[in-house]
Amino acid sequence: MATQKTEHQTEHPDFETLFDNLADGVYLLEPKTSNILWCNRAAYEDLGFEKHEVLNHSVLSLQKDVVGQPQWDEIAQVIQAHKTYTFVGRHLHKNGGEIAVEINTTHFEHQGQTYFLSIARNVNKRLALEKDLQTKENSIWFALNEASDGLWEWEVDTGYVFFSPQLKKMLGYGPNEMEPVIETWTRNVHPDDLQMVMQVMQDYHQGLRGVYEVEYRLRNRNGHYLWVHDRGKVCQRGDDGKPLRMVGMVQNITERKQLQFQLEALAANDFLTQLPNRREGENQAQRHLALSKRNKMPLSLAVVDFDDFKSINDMHGHQKGDEAIVFGGQLLQQAIRSSDYIYRWGGEEFVIIFPNTKLEDTEVIAEKLRQAFESADWPSIGILPFTLSIGLAGYPGNGDTFEDIIAQADKAVYAAKENGRNQTILANELSQA
Ligand code: GH3
Ligand code: MG
Ligand code: MG
Repeated sequence: MATQKTEHQTEHPDFETLFDNLADGVYLLEPKTSNILWCNRAAYEDLGFEKHEVLNHSVLSLQKDVVGQPQWDEIAQVIQAHKTYTFVGRHLHKNGGEIAVEINTTHFEHQGQTYFLSIARNVNKRLALEKDLQTKENSIWFALNEASDGLWEWEVDTGYVFFSPQLKKMLGYGPNEMEPVIETWTRNVHPDDLQMVMQVMQDYHQGLRGVYEVEYRLRNRNGHYLWVHDRGKVCQRGDDGKPLRMVGMVQNITERKQLQFQLEALAANDFLTQLPNRREGENQAQRHLALSKRNKMPLSLAVVDFDDFKSINDMHGHQKGDEAIVFGGQLLQQAIRSSDYIYRWGGEEFVIIFPNTKLEDTEVIAEKLRQAFESADWPSIGILPFTLSIGLAGYPGNGDTFEDIIAQADKAVYAAKENGRNQTILANELSQA
């Protein structure tokens, strides 16, 4: 039957109990005097009072922001003119503390009498959170605009890039310049660095590196290149693990690089292999040649060039390529005699000077070098095996000056390349050809 109660039906709690279980404070007010006619538990407990300490007292005694009857009269008028009136202020705790509250007041009529009903919500936590957010926002704003590093954020699949104002400033652009696309960046990376930078990025995306971190030259607005240190990480990936979003930081390291170049210019050794460099080699070669001429002794030299080294870089990345150059330099040094001199001439090219050695006698040594490469354990440093080509020339047979002799050795190594690489060619053989 419709009127019959089922077993599960029970009486609802009365309204007093319901209100006392609300988290917000509820006040019934008398509009003229601002007296509290009724309130729920939260209304007094949250402020540290007993119920009787607030009932029939003016609500102004709990308030910090409304002082005196005239001000209440004004507020009471505004409340009556609106459906709901929201007021953000401070309630006073009995212990003297303050609580930030948001109070929503409505008015209603009951039996010819007007009443105000206020609901007060503690917004201390929310305000603290907002303040915290504001502080964070300030820090982010500072990082974007004031910190000396430029920031970028790249949406990998769309190619959209956010360049921070500071990054634009670093490159000499205004805040509204630089189209926010990846091409804006790739177009301005130095052409000689682009491939290497892309390789580092690709290695990172494929998980071969823990972070994208690289130094390269970046063109600024007036066409000059800055040296930059660029470092970034993926901050969002798709379900398939593909990078969706990357953030990074660009630092202008031009001054440090210039200092490094100055130091390198002063140094006799190459920074990568620690072998004497080309400048040192040219100086020493002049001295060795002068000595040979005075003592009427022969002198020979070898130009050594790694075969197809571009593909080593392409396959393993520039960093591994560097390691191969260091390892290769060590192999060469170990294979020559202690009386011979080796220099890193540039790139993956080395020059060896053999004082007091006839050209014919260097062929054996060159063969040792070639074999050292052939039998080296390249996979132990994570590189596929590769070979080298050697050109040999000597004094007095191939010239009278160092420049002449090395030019002949260069021709010989070129011939070795033409002839299929992984071999030694003597300059003498060239002139016979
Ligand atoms: P080839 O057999 O004709 O010599 O071919 P190759 O690819 O070795 O060509 P080449 O000698 O003309 O170019 C050498 C390449 O070595 C160019 C560059 O990519 C790379 N290379 C030069 N210097 C460095 C270096 O310091 N580090 C790394 N990783 N690679 C370098
Ligand atoms: Mg080469
Ligand atoms: Mg070369």
